[in-house]
Amino acid sequence: MSNLLEEAKELQNLLIEHRRYIHENAEIDMDLPITTKYVMDKLTEMGYEPKEICKSGIVAIAGGKKPGKTFLLRADMDALPIVEETDEPFKSKTNYMHACGHDLHTAMLLGAAKLLKKHENEIEGKVKLMFQPAEEPIKGAQAMLKAGVLENPKVDAAMMIHVATGTPFPSGLLVVRHAGIISSASDWFTIRVKGKGGHSSSPNLTIDPLNVISHIFIALESINARELAPADNAAITVGQIHGGNTSNVIPDTAFLSGTIRTFNNETRTFIKRRLEEIATSVAKTFRAEAIVEYSCCCPSLINDANIVENFKDYTSSLVGDDRVIDADKAENGTYATMTGSEDFGYVTELIPSIMVGLTTGSTTDGYIYPHHHPKTQFDESPLYIGSATYANMAMKWLENAK
Ligand SMILES: [Zn+2]
Ligand SMILES: [Zn+2]
Repeated sequence: MSNLLEEAKELQNLLIEHRRYIHENAEIDMDLPITTKYVMDKLTEMGYEPKEICKSGIVAIAGGKKPGKTFLLRADMDALPIVEETDEPFKSKTNYMHACGHDLHTAMLLGAAKLLKKHENEIEGKVKLMFQPAEEPIKGAQAMLKAGVLENPKVDAAMMIHVATGTPFPSGLLVVRHAGIISSASDWFTIRVKGKGGHSSSPNLTIDPLNVISHIFIALESINARELAPADNAAITVGQIHGGNTSNVIPDTAFLSGTIRTFNNETRTFIKRRLEEIATSVAKTFRAEAIVEYSCCCPSLINDANIVENFKDYTSSLVGDDRVIDADKAENGTYATMTGSEDFGYVTELIPSIMVGLTTGSTTDGYIYPHHHPKTQFDESPLYIGSATYANMAMKWLENAK
């Protein structure tokens, strides 16, 4: 076990090969045929019996020779609808781009799979590998949960790694945040207002949805300003308002949409309820009708206190104390802004889990573009560290959780 990092280092060229193939063939959302085939083939070559439990959602199991619990390791595999603007020799051949680094996650978990297979007889329980689609549109984790990713065998704890480029940190550090909620829950809403259209010269014969939606927009501001406690953080943002096509017509309908970001469930439920009450009652006041729809909801990501301590302990002995850093104690909070929303939150709601960051490119080394930018680049040199960290955490946790 102590040589796991050295063993992973020997896989580095293979990890780069995996990463570049997936990068070149970037695919998005729930439909990742090339990536899925690649991962299934590689796992099968290693001696696994991978299963596609839902569209582009792959599960494989290592261990089981010794009794014990089950630890889940997760990698997401989807890219973004962005046309790549880098000069990398392995630039995407599709119209999509791995601008969030999920290609690195997939490569690292394939590396961990190889290490775990090699040490299969030592695993005290089982390690479940979860390769998921559609993290970006916040659909993949839910689809895999629905397909039973946490059952057969039942998962006891879980970990994911997200790479981080464009930060002030040098490459190859494992960044851990505190126990508890580490990212906001996000809920997307649309408010559709139905009025009654007509000629602009006869407003009395119409119900103007633009007037109604303006009042709704202003009224929503009161939730944050007057109904939440000053210490209760939340961001309610309207990102678009649409209605009408020309100057002399009062339209029939209008809509606005936006996002709610919250850090605890009570506030989240309260805001969603108040938003609905305000929209429908303001519309009623002006003789119109409002319908509120929610989509693309994602809960907060919660780090489990014990798993955080376990991770620091096990990973420090793998890579050294100085390579495991506490993001909350770091001098600036750059890493904190990375955790906007992450659909692994659905897993963390159900089982004790941890999200870990792996730095893959610092601004001082020229990695100046942030995630989701068409020119963003990632330093591949820490790939093997990611693989070793995944495998080590799972094996050590199982060993100590008997
Ligand atoms: Zn992303
Ligand atoms: Zn991401």
